[in-house]
This record gives sequence, C-alpha cells and structure tokens, in this order.
Amino acid sequence: MTTDTLGPYRLTDAEQSLLTTVTELATGFAETAADLDERAEIPIENLRALTAAGVERAVLPKDVGGEGVGYQAFGELIRVLAQAEPSTATIFLMHAGAGIALAQLTAPTLGSYYADEFLRGARFANALSEPASGNTFLQPQQVALPTAGGHTLDGAKRFVSGSEIAEHLLVNALVDDVPTFFGVEPDETVETIPIWDTLGLRATRSQLLTFHRTLLREDRRGRGLLPTDFAAIPAGLPSISLGIADAALGALVGHARSRVIQGRPLAHQQWVQFEVAAVESRLEAAKAYTRLALWHADSGLPQTFGSLSRAKLLANRVAVEVAQLGVRIGGASGYLKTSPIQRHLRDAEAGQLMAYSTEVLSGQVGQEILGI
Ligand SMILES: Cc1cc2nc3c(=O)[nH]c(=O)nc-3n(C[C@H](O)[C@H](O)[C@H](O)COP(=O)(O)OP(=O)(O)OC[C@H]3O[C@@H](n4cnc5c(N)ncnc54)[C@H](O)[C@@H]3O)c2cc1C
Repeated sequence: MTTDTLGPYRLTDAEQSLLTTVTELATGFAETAADLDERAEIPIENLRALTAAGVERAVLPKDVGGEGVGYQAFGELIRVLAQAEPSTATIFLMHAGAGIALAQLTAPTLGSYYADEFLRGARFANALSEPASGNTFLQPQQVALPTAGGHTLDGAKRFVSGSEIAEHLLVNALVDDVPTFFGVEPDETVETIPIWDTLGLRATRSQLLTFHRTLLREDRRGRGLLPTDFAAIPAGLPSISLGIADAALGALVGHARSRVIQGRPLAHQQWVQFEVAAVESRLEAAKAYTRLALWHADSGLPQTFGSLSRAKLLANRVAVEVAQLGVRIGGASGYLKTSPIQRHLRDAEAGQLMAYSTEVLSGQVGQEILGI
C-alpha cells in the first residue's frame, strides 16, 4: 500500500508530505532492523528521528493543539514504519496511543499539560494489560484505593512496550468499580521486571511493571473514552501486521528470484508462483479492507470498531501466512539467522497476540454475525 495506491481515499498535501518524510526515514530504519532484533534494543534513535521530523505534532488531534492527520494517513504511516522496522512502529503506536489519549482525556481538567509533553518529545507508554485480565485490557481488575491527593495502585501491568524510556504511563484501574484512566510519571514505586526476551518484536522491550503503592494523582485523572476520541491503537494495529507482511513478501520474492535450483531461479517453479499469487491476493484484500475500515473511522461511522476488528483479524492472519510461505520458499537458507525470512515469521506471530488477539476478535465478530 504505497501512498499513491490508496485508491479512492485521498490524503491532504500535508499528510502526503508527512508520509514522504516518514518513508525516507524508514529506509534508514530498515537497515538496522536485524541488528535491533538481535540485540533486543529499543530503537531510540528511530523514535527521536520521528520526533525531529514533527510526527507527534502531525498525529496529535486538532482539538488538543496538533495538526490532526486522518486515520487513513495514520494507518499508512504505521504500515510504512512496520515494513521497515516493526518494533519502532509498535513502540511509536503505543506512545501515540497513550500520549493522545492522555491529552484528550485530561484536557477538560488539566488543560494542555499532556499535549505539551507529547509535542516536546516526552515518551509515553500504555500500562494497561494486567496479569489476570487476559486480553481485556480496557477492563482492569486491579482496584485503586483512595488516599490523600488521589488513589494508590498496588499491582502489575505487563508487556508495556517502550516502558524503559517512558516518562509518562497511561494506566487504568478500578475506582469505585469503574475503569478509570490516570497519567503516571514513573518514580521509585514503579519497578521494571525485565521479562522481555521473546521470539518476535524483540526491540519493543515490552516489560512487566510492578506498582508498589504508586500514587495515581487526582489531577492526572482522565475522563472516560468518547467515540469522538482519536482511536490510535485500534486504527494502527492492523497496519503493524500489514507492514510485516509486506516485508515478508519482499524477502520471499527476493529469495525466489535469486536462488537458482537446477539452472533456474526458484521463482520459475509453478508451485512458487501459485502460492505467491494466493498469499499476495489475500494481502491486497486485507489492505483494501483496512483502508475501508480507516475510511469508516475518518467518516465517524458507527461500524468503525467492528470494521477495525475485522481488519486486524485479516491483517494478523495474512501476515503469518505470507511469512510461513517465506520459510517454505527460503528452505534452510531462509531459516538461518542471517536471513530476514525467519525474523519476519517471528514478528508476524506477535501481531496475533497483541490485544485484541485473533481469538478474542474472532469471538466478537462471530457473536455479532450470529446475533449472540
Ligand atoms: C509485542 C507485544 C506488545 C505489547 N504491548 C503492550 C503495551 O504496550 N501495553 C499493554 O498494556 N499491553 C501490551 N501488550 C499486551 C497485549 O496487548 C495483551 O493484552 C496481552 O498480550 C495478553 O496477555 P497474553 O498475551 O499473556 O495472553 P492471554 O491473555 O493469557 O491469552 C492466552 C490465550 O487466551 C486467549 N484469550 C485471552 N483472553 C481471552 C478472552 N477474554 N476471550 C477469549 N480468549 C481469550 C488469547 O487469545 C490467547 O490465545 C503487548 C503484547 C505483545 C505481544
């Protein structure tokens, strides 16, 4: 999905210019992707380059002082990043989701504090998933207890992408039985437990955080979510998988064209052509559906969340299919650590796990169709 193939969906000149800048930056990000994966290191230089290019200002909604790109441009931005270096895309998506949410949810009470922090380049992370909540990260089970100046949280949040560099966390907990959002500036009461040694998306360093009677300040408390809030994370998650799928397809095509077996490139074998046609068509269909879902979001239509759920389900699955075909076409050489093919498979699997997982989405969509 290059920016000139968005079909009927139009970008403004400013959005097009942003995507050109991000595409140029992403070319450099791709060069260090294998190394970041090997070392499981946060791609801080990539994130700083995005900030220097004004990406935070571009994605911050207009009602809180930003330029407010639309969902179509936002999705494409995440896809371009994910194709180059998916951990950068994931950390940036979580950072944007938390920063934008805190800016919008606290604007009525706190003014522009979080918007200003986001624009100055402060780093944000989502500390929402709980050890006992499964995938339902918006329904916390942990209770915040009242104290002077707010509430305290004793508990844990897990798989917090980019948490080690975060200056602000978006945290949720139950207050009077109601899920409630707070902004937290991590201090000595927030402990990082270094659990993140994974197969894929290794450079996201999505660690476990333990909260030891951490103060959830009343003046950092947000209002509830509204349908008009910018839903960065649901809009961006399908594009993480689409970008990984594009990278996986590029790697398998490169291998099929360059690997010569009995005098002919592997690409000349009919089974390879048939299988590539099958997965590439499904990938294009998932991209087209994702663009439709983002158009629903840009148009403020009520089916937006159902469409984005289906887009994530399709994108997560097709990324794994493309990456698995890459392993078959790559043979043992694609299985070597030096090949990008194996990395794309590991990264593709992670898309299915991030909430909402493909199982949870299948349940939601299936129930909707069956009227349950
Ligand atoms: C790369 C990566 C980055 C992440 N980044 C963040 C982040 O920045 N912030 C954050 O808060 N979280 C983050 N997460 C957490 C993620 O979004 C999930 O909430 C979390 O992974 C769920 O826990 P789990 O993976 O151990 O699976 P579990 O919840 O233990 O699920 C195990 C199995 O049960 C299924 N399952 C779980 N719940 C249900 C249900 N209600 N109904 C039906 N089936 C269910 C799952 O699909 C899965 O098959 C990240 C996860 C990954 C993999």
